[in-house]
Amino acid sequence: MLKIIPSDDLKQAKLIRRYLMSVVSYLMSVLFIFFVHYQGFSLSLPRHMLWIYSCAALATQAVFYGIFRTGFNKRFSDPSLTIQQMVVGIAWLMVVAYYASEAVRPLFLLFYLMIFIFGAFKLKVQQFLYLSLFALISYGTVVAMLLFFRPEMVNLNLEVLNGACLGIVLFWFSFVGGYINQLREKLVEALGIIKKLATHDELTNVFNRRKLFETLQREKALADRNGTTFSICMFDLDLFKEINDTYGHLVGDTVLRIVAQAISNDLREEDYMARFGGEEFVLVLSYPELESAVKCAERLRRLTESLYFPDLPNHFRITISFGVTEYRSPELIEETLARADSALYRAKTRGRNRVEFDRAS
Ligand code: GH3
Ligand code: MG
Ligand code: MG
Repeated sequence: MLKIIPSDDLKQAKLIRRYLMSVVSYLMSVLFIFFVHYQGFSLSLPRHMLWIYSCAALATQAVFYGIFRTGFNKRFSDPSLTIQQMVVGIAWLMVVAYYASEAVRPLFLLFYLMIFIFGAFKLKVQQFLYLSLFALISYGTVVAMLLFFRPEMVNLNLEVLNGACLGIVLFWFSFVGGYINQLREKLVEALGIIKKLATHDELTNVFNRRKLFETLQREKALADRNGTTFSICMFDLDLFKEINDTYGHLVGDTVLRIVAQAISNDLREEDYMARFGGEEFVLVLSYPELESAVKCAERLRRLTESLYFPDLPNHFRITISFGVTEYRSPELIEETLARADSALYRAKTRGRNRVEFDRAS
């Protein structure tokens, strides 16, 4: 069944939710227009034309829905189509202002504000100013058309006053709305940084310990349910303390970053890499057999010993030691990690720059 708001595309869902607010505004405006009409301030339109115009206004909203729902909006530089929706809103307001009697015309100017508030989701001050200019010119056009076609419906002095008031309010709103949007953008940016920090290690840009345990619990649940398994490779940089002591902590940081990135780039899409702590990392590999994980570790060990570091002497090389094991359902994740750790310890005591593994007995 077709859903009004899609559930498979969060970005589109957000845009459609925002668009639905604009639909509600249209419905409220149409209701208000009928209310004005039945209060006796007729819109100098026969009733059937009032219905036709109202339906046409709602139809433009249906067109926007079609554009959002088919994803056609993604072809625009701003997929929220904020400016386009505002321009259509202002155009409809022109039609209403043209047919409104002189007494109620200023009331409809309030609807400009309703339209402009939508801009605060997206627009910059300059875009607001252009739209304000467009709104003022459109209002001026309505007054000019009235003066020409139906001069008995318009008092020029009053309309100049209306126009001036509209200009001041929209000018003010351009800056406040632009400022609101700026704050919103900063908030989105800050939220992005917070989200990233919650799951990633700042220095090496691989997953952090928190995300590692989250991932391991999920892999464990999947393995327990499906009767499959996965492998864990724990690795540690060899004699890293000497690098810090000889070249300084900052160079040490760069070495950590380069090694982490090289290994992470070499992994498959479905594998994970996390910083376990200090210069120790954990890989979660979705291989069904331990042999494949050991082969992968061996490949990464060779890759690391061939890495070149621009900040260090030409002959400088770093090596890593691996401890590899596989998850044995239904053990605790901590038990798997402890086995990988003792295999890694063995690799260190047996001379470093090697892969040791722990096979199920
Ligand atoms: P081994 O081969 O036995 O692992 O020797 P090692 O020197 O690498 O081992 P040890 O655990 O003694 O030293 C690890 C060092 O890693 C100590 C610590 O100062 C350094 N280290 C941990 N985290 C960081 C970091 O974020 N940046 C830098 N530059 N150094 C770090
Ligand atoms: Mg080390
Ligand atoms: Mg260590």
